[in-house]
Amino acid sequence: MNYKEVGIELIDFNIDKMTLLKEWMSGLNLDGRTPKGQKYNKDGLIFISNQIKMHKLFDSDLPIHNISATTSRWTPESVELMTAAFTKERLTSICSKGITVRNESKMTEAKFKNYAREVVKTINSLGLFHKKATNDLVVVLKNKGDIKSIALYKSNLDEIWIQSDSKIDNDLYGHGKYVLVHEIGHRFEAIYGLPEGFSDSKFATTKYSYTMTDFGGSEAFAEAFAVSHWKDKYPEFSKVIDAYIPMMIEHSKNTISKKRSLPAHLTSLGI
Ligand SMILES: [Zn+2]
Repeated sequence: MNYKEVGIELIDFNIDKMTLLKEWMSGLNLDGRTPKGQKYNKDGLIFISNQIKMHKLFDSDLPIHNISATTSRWTPESVELMTAAFTKERLTSICSKGITVRNESKMTEAKFKNYAREVVKTINSLGLFHKKATNDLVVVLKNKGDIKSIALYKSNLDEIWIQSDSKIDNDLYGHGKYVLVHEIGHRFEAIYGLPEGFSDSKFATTKYSYTMTDFGGSEAFAEAFAVSHWKDKYPEFSKVIDAYIPMMIEHSKNTISKKRSLPAHLTSLGI
């Protein structure tokens, strides 16, 4: 869309241009800081966005009238400045110490920054063997419609996908932080393979341990991987966890990559 041209077309607004207005508005980023000198225009755009919502909810001509009263004050020059200020590309990728978080969802930039910060924090809290599967890690936020489960490890792309509306505010079972570590468990298996002596039945913990992945990885392994990171929160699985941890420490000492070559910096560490 040519935002400037369409914006100029919208100066003379009427109800027939409603769809066009909605499309045009959806390309504008009104979440972040207000660009210099754009406070008045931003307020006008937010007002329009509220009027669009009102129009959807109520059968009234007032929102249409309000929109057209706002756009009629625009000039081609002000539209040009406005579109340049608000159609800037959103920040969609954040990298920190070898971790990349990408936003491929409708999540706003402000929410994405917060989400990415929590992802990085969670990954940096991992130690011992958990940490060994986090090099060059890519986490991608996806819209609900693009991903069937809350999260998954996309083994062919070596990416962890997380549903953008999953909560990352705490590490409770099934929340964003937990599923993130669970998916890192799948990545561990993909890189290093399962440890000798591991079996689904011997290391089953949560109910989810008894389900199957669609890429052939072990859910029991990924669940044990996750609960062993928050050991004290899962006393009901302490027996399994106490057997899992030394087995994993031993495994990550001895193992080399099974299914793909290790990233260069891992190889250089002689792991
Ligand atoms: Zn899984």
